[in-house]
Amino acid sequence: MIKNWLSERAFSFSASGIRKVFDLGAKLVNPINLSIGQPDFDMPEAARNAAIDAINHCKNGYSPTQGIAPLIERLQKGIDVELGHEDRSVFITSGTSGGLVLTLLATVNPGDEVIMCDPYFVMYEALTKMVGGAAVLVDTYPDFRPDVQKIADAITPKTKLILFNSPANPTGYVATAQEAEDVAKLAAEKNILLVSDEIYDMFCHKEFVSPAKFNPQTLVLGGYSKSYGMPGWRVGFAHGPKELIEQLLKFQQYTFVCAPQPAQWGAITALDCDMSKEIAAYKHKRDMIYDGIKDCYDVVKPEGAFYMFPKAPAPWKTATEFVHKAITEYSMLVIPGNIFSQHDTHFRISYAASDQTIERGIEALRKLAGK
Ligand code: PMP
Repeated sequence: MIKNWLSERAFSFSASGIRKVFDLGAKLVNPINLSIGQPDFDMPEAARNAAIDAINHCKNGYSPTQGIAPLIERLQKGIDVELGHEDRSVFITSGTSGGLVLTLLATVNPGDEVIMCDPYFVMYEALTKMVGGAAVLVDTYPDFRPDVQKIADAITPKTKLILFNSPANPTGYVATAQEAEDVAKLAAEKNILLVSDEIYDMFCHKEFVSPAKFNPQTLVLGGYSKSYGMPGWRVGFAHGPKELIEQLLKFQQYTFVCAPQPAQWGAITALDCDMSKEIAAYKHKRDMIYDGIKDCYDVVKPEGAFYMFPKAPAPWKTATEFVHKAITEYSMLVIPGNIFSQHDTHFRISYAASDQTIERGIEALRKLAGK
């Protein structure tokens, strides 16, 4: 019955497989949880207090569609210094996800194609389907580095945008300056919008280079969920050519309205907080898990974000079977790769967890690999 009420859109994608793993995990006692895509540290105290102050000072109304002026001014200044593009403006989105939703709504017609590297962040494919577009996957196995020629070959007259993500979820890939430049120049040459999802830019264990540096038309999406441990507050930003930003704002006005106002005040203070200790701790976590399993898994050392994407070892034929075993026999939650990919060969480890959980995870992973 309810089926009849639903749109075709509702049938075009299914609930995130990550949620299914979370549901399985909810039944486990003291699981080794390496599945969560959020930092294990909390928002800095000063930022929490700034948000509380905003609430207590009755800053609980709508903010302007584009966000509160002090946050925008601060971001605009930083972007102007960093990129120096004449025609680049910024606004505050309801998380990076909000920016992605607005981007797809504003740019993709039914039947249009959206290019993304495989493996990709789950939301890219679902959102593309939601707006009637078709996801075109560019395979990046086995090292997860995009081959720009392959991206070029995937371009057709229907291509509307390229969704680029560095540092990447779920692989931890970080673009070199050359890769960023190549993809940026390809988009410019073909006159296709390049969207650069930079949400993990602070979790980068080598130099971070944005493709926007090489192509002023690039739309950059980012946010504070990961970098300042505030995913529940829903604050992100989008910056790009003014004319495009104005269109995105139009969609924000009639959807999200604005990002939560108290959270925006918290974000301003967050920007003054030094997160270098947390970032260093995440580099240590990366090293712990990589060194702990590299001799028994086929795994690329991640250079950013907080994920690793090893191959399920023999004798498992699929990552799904491997993950099932990991959950049922070792109470270890990891995510099968087919949720992010057309291949079901690898699995995602999130090392956004305590060192103790990571140690338990290494032990379980070694046992699973027969060591
Ligand atoms: N992009 C990527 C690559 C992500 O991994 C995530 C969160 N998992 C997001 C965007 C969305 O983040 P948020 O909406 O919390 O800013």
